[in-house]
Amino acid sequence: MIPREFEYHAPKSIQDALGLMERFGDEAKLLAGGHSLLPMMKLRFAQPGHLIDLGGIGELKGIREEGGMLRIGAMTTENEIIWSKLLQDKCPLLVEGARLIADPQVRYKGTIGGDLSHGDPGNDHPALMLVLGAAFVLKGSSGARLVPSDGFFLGSYNTLLQPSEIMTEIRIPVPAPNTGYSYSKLKRKIGDYATAAAAVTLRMHGESVHDVAIALTNLGACVLKARAAEDSLRGKTMSDAAIAEAARLAMSICDPAADQRGDAEYKVAMAGEMTQRALRTARSRASH
Ligand SMILES: Cc1cc2nc3c(=O)[nH]c(=O)nc-3n(C[C@H](O)[C@H](O)[C@H](O)COP(=O)(O)OP(=O)(O)OC[C@H]3O[C@@H](n4cnc5c(N)ncnc54)[C@H](O)[C@@H]3O)c2cc1C
Repeated sequence: MIPREFEYHAPKSIQDALGLMERFGDEAKLLAGGHSLLPMMKLRFAQPGHLIDLGGIGELKGIREEGGMLRIGAMTTENEIIWSKLLQDKCPLLVEGARLIADPQVRYKGTIGGDLSHGDPGNDHPALMLVLGAAFVLKGSSGARLVPSDGFFLGSYNTLLQPSEIMTEIRIPVPAPNTGYSYSKLKRKIGDYATAAAAVTLRMHGESVHDVAIALTNLGACVLKARAAEDSLRGKTMSDAAIAEAARLAMSICDPAADQRGDAEYKVAMAGEMTQRALRTARSRASH
C-alpha cells in the first residue's frame, strides 16, 4: 500500500515545529528517522495529513556530558550512539544496546527519540533507559518538563508524551565507572526485534550486590521493570541460586503476546535465560 497524501514541513527550530503542531493539531505527525512511522503510514495505521520533519533541527542533535549527566539529543541516530567515544567510555551499555537494534541501514536513520516516543514494546531503548535511570525532556508550547523513564511507558504504543509535545533530550546520570552492565537479547536473525531481552546494571560492594536494576523487552504491553527480582539480589552474593531465583521472579511478571517469534511459554522461558545471562555478564564486568 502507499500512504495517504500528506503535506511535508521542514522546520528549522523546535519553536517552529511546536508552532506547526499547534496549527495542524491531530492532523500532524512528527517525523524522525521514519523507520517506525513510515511502515505504519504505508499500512494506513497512521494517516497524518501533515508530516513535520525534525531532521533539520540542529538543537535536537548531539551527545555531551554536563553536570554529571549525559545529554543526548532526541534526533541522535543509533549509529551516532555507537560511534560516540563519550558513550563508549562512560555508558557502554547504551552502545551495546544500540548495536543490537535492527540492521546497519536502520541504524543510520533511526533515532533514540523516535525509538522511545513510539512506545513499541519491541523497541530496545526503553529497557536500557530504565536500568540507566534516564529522564526525558518533553517540550510543548507552554514549556518543558523532565519526566523519569520509570513510569513514562504506559502500555502498547502508549506513553506519557502528549501529542502536542516533542521529546527533545534524553538525560542519563553518568554511571559509576565500576558499574557492571549487559543487554542480552535473543533474536531470530540480524535485524529482528527481541524474542526476549534483559537489560541489567549492577553495582557490587565486595562480594555482595550493592544495587541492581533489571528491565525486560518485548515481554508485556510495554517494558517491564523486574522490581522483585532486583530486591531479591540486593545485599546478596551472586550465587547460582540467587541468579536463578532472580530469573524466576523476572519470569513471573512477563505476559508476552504469542507471535511468529514463539508462544508465550517459550518467550517467558527465554526471559529467564536472558535475565540469567545479563546478570552473569554484568557481574563479570562489575568491579568493587
Ligand atoms: C527492519 C526494522 C527492524 C527494526 N528492529 C528494531 C529493533 O530490533 N529494536 C528497536 O528498538 N527498534 C527496531 N526498529 C525500529 C527502529 O529502531 C525505529 O527507527 C524506531 O522505532 C523509531 O525511530 P525513528 O527515528 O525511525 O522514528 P519515526 O519512525 O520517525 O517515529 C516513530 C514515532 O515517534 C514519534 N516521534 C519521533 N521522534 C519524536 C520526538 N523527538 N518527539 C516526539 N515524538 C517523536 C513519531 O511521530 C512517530 O509516531 C526496526 C525497524 C525496522 C524497519
